[in-house]
Amino acid sequence: MQVLKFGGTSVGKPERMHQVAQLITKDNEPKIVVLSALSGTTNALVAIGESLAKSDKDEAKAKIEALRAHYYTFIQDLLKKEELRAEAKAIIDEHFEFLLITLKISFNEALNRDILAQGELMSTKLFTLYLEEIGVDAKLLPALEFMRTNEEHEPDLDLISEKLTALLEKEKGPSIFITQGYICKNFKGEIDNLQRGGSDYTASLVGAAIQATEIQIWTDIDGMHNNDPRVVDKTFPIAELSFDEAAELAYFGAKILHPASIWPAQKMGITVRLLNTMEPEAKGTVISTATTSDDVKALAAKDGITAIKIKSTRMLLAYGFLRKIFEIFEKYRTPIDMITTSEVAVSVTIDDATYLTKIVAELEKFGTVEVDRNQTIICVVGNFVAERKGVVNNIFEALTSVPIRMISYGGSRHNISLLTDRSYKEEALQKLNTHLFDL
Ligand code: ADP
Ligand code: ASP
Ligand code: MG
Repeated sequence: MQVLKFGGTSVGKPERMHQVAQLITKDNEPKIVVLSALSGTTNALVAIGESLAKSDKDEAKAKIEALRAHYYTFIQDLLKKEELRAEAKAIIDEHFEFLLITLKISFNEALNRDILAQGELMSTKLFTLYLEEIGVDAKLLPALEFMRTNEEHEPDLDLISEKLTALLEKEKGPSIFITQGYICKNFKGEIDNLQRGGSDYTASLVGAAIQATEIQIWTDIDGMHNNDPRVVDKTFPIAELSFDEAAELAYFGAKILHPASIWPAQKMGITVRLLNTMEPEAKGTVISTATTSDDVKALAAKDGITAIKIKSTRMLLAYGFLRKIFEIFEKYRTPIDMITTSEVAVSVTIDDATYLTKIVAELEKFGTVEVDRNQTIICVVGNFVAERKGVVNNIFEALTSVPIRMISYGGSRHNISLLTDRSYKEEALQKLNTHLFDL
């Protein structure tokens, strides 16, 4: 069985949904199709939640009605048969009735997550109706029945596998299953999600859970590019990446993949293919265990980074110092991305600054602490063999005009990370593009 995921832009217009239907029916391979919400919907739902959070009910209502109008138009162009249009309208109305109820009840985080789930619930129902209209035998598998996260808010792959396998065993008929990306239930049984962009993660988890033959991520670009196409003029698609390289790029900011979306596929050794819905013949990117050339493959950048420097003369020759520092981050469940050390100081970066004040207060017991916000990690990914000369040299040559706050090299052979102020991100990516790829 294959898993095919289609992102927001791939289902964001009626004609795109029609095209997705063609793509999934062009062979007889059994498949699970994971869909995102129509493009713009999750952002609109986030905005509705924000209006509710500040108790601006009029604003929330106006946003809800604007979104409903969008869906009404969408249905008209998606479906031809009047009875299916009426059915689609009834489904949409049910979801919007729920959204209108949120205006009358007290707002909290759990309710916000219910609101955020409406996008994927609607897109999958509409798509299933369209498949019915064109006579395709398909079955909707509700993600809320099998996607689970545990107490650590991490997906519970064993439980997902158990539940999904049981659901599939009951269904002997169709060979096409449709399910929602992004949404899940948490250990308390509440509706939750896998964070923004989480449909990629769903696809990888579903693929791993059923030991799929392949996972395909269909999006609006022809694969993973060598640099962020939103920032840099000339970029090109990379034909092959290893799981490690893809995981680094996803984690360090390549928006095409959710940061955590590689590990489930990697764990089960399932090939991931990144493909373009608007250009289905394009080769895209294949992500697998195979590593290809020993060279720089791609660049990515992750914003919103906070750098923390702890300076302590007492650290000199002291063992156990790093452990004490790390324990503070562990206590506040805050992952560290980069780390550099000198004899008297340690610098680390975090991207989740929720507990920054508390962390800093505890770190101050060990020395002076300096915090720099608004930093960006620039990540150079490839397959760097330790003896290979020139890579670091090339990076430095490219970045003579960019102040670099931290450098991390040698932690893995796939990643060289540099930290710079956010204001230098565009310049750094552009200059590295020119210098490392001759573009
Ligand atoms: P979807 O809605 O299909 O999940 P996303 O918008 O989440 O699509 O991801 C695709 C977008 O990721 C592309 O349109 C592109 O602008 C952006 N992107 C950022 N970095 C890269 C990269 N290195 N390669 C390809 N796309 C990238
Ligand atoms: N709809 C969700 C989002 O916009 C999940 C996804 O598209 O992957 O973040
Ligand atoms: Mg995405």
